[in-house]
Amino acid sequence: MAKLGYDDTPLLPGGQWQVHDYRRPQPRIVTPGAEAGRAPSDARFLFDGSSLSGWAGRDGDVQWKIDNGCLAVVPKTGDIWTRETLGDCQLHLEFACPAEIKGESQGRGNSGVFLMGLYEIQVLDGYNNPTYADGITASIYGEFPPLVNACRKPGDWQTYDIVWTAPRFNGVALVAPAYLTLLHNGVLVHNHTELMGPTGHRDVYPYKAHAPTGPLKLQDHGDLVRYRNIWYRPIGNYDGQ
Ligand code: MG
Repeated sequence: MAKLGYDDTPLLPGGQWQVHDYRRPQPRIVTPGAEAGRAPSDARFLFDGSSLSGWAGRDGDVQWKIDNGCLAVVPKTGDIWTRETLGDCQLHLEFACPAEIKGESQGRGNSGVFLMGLYEIQVLDGYNNPTYADGITASIYGEFPPLVNACRKPGDWQTYDIVWTAPRFNGVALVAPAYLTLLHNGVLVHNHTELMGPTGHRDVYPYKAHAPTGPLKLQDHGDLVRYRNIWYRPIGNYDGQ
């Protein structure tokens, strides 16, 4: 069998695996329940199916399409990101990889959800599609595989429910790392996971100070992935109301 990942990449800090290590065990497969939830009353919509005015792209306006109420990647037009910036938040989104299976490993239904534009939760058609474990669907790309593989079939709508704690900086110094909790199709796949730093391909990337909020970025990886129902709730302190 061809190698699924790499063996010439750096060792991840504090562990036994290299970045995209092809020897890293695959997450166990779990079949998700039939349905996941809808937006609560205080949700702030980033994409509600009708407008892209809240988004920006490589040359200013977004060149992705609204197709049947969905936000569809238009390959080679570049990543897109929200004009609004988010800090600590609860975030919900839904995605669908192409029903028609094309390509393999990282070349099948690849996109990505970048918190603060820097920290990627992988979007991939990871259903019967082996790849390196830290690059499968719902991985923190290049850092942590999901606890299990809860993928639905290609073409089916899937959900991410994210709890995000942004990293804290004091000047250029890191004060507290970022934390991510993630449910994929209602199944817990990251439980308050401490991120090592920004995510990337084939390397380990240290934290670099940035603003306390940042845009939500969606990746154009050349595949016809669609999104819908993207909303968030800022995580604030109890306001006494
Ligand atoms: Mg990706």
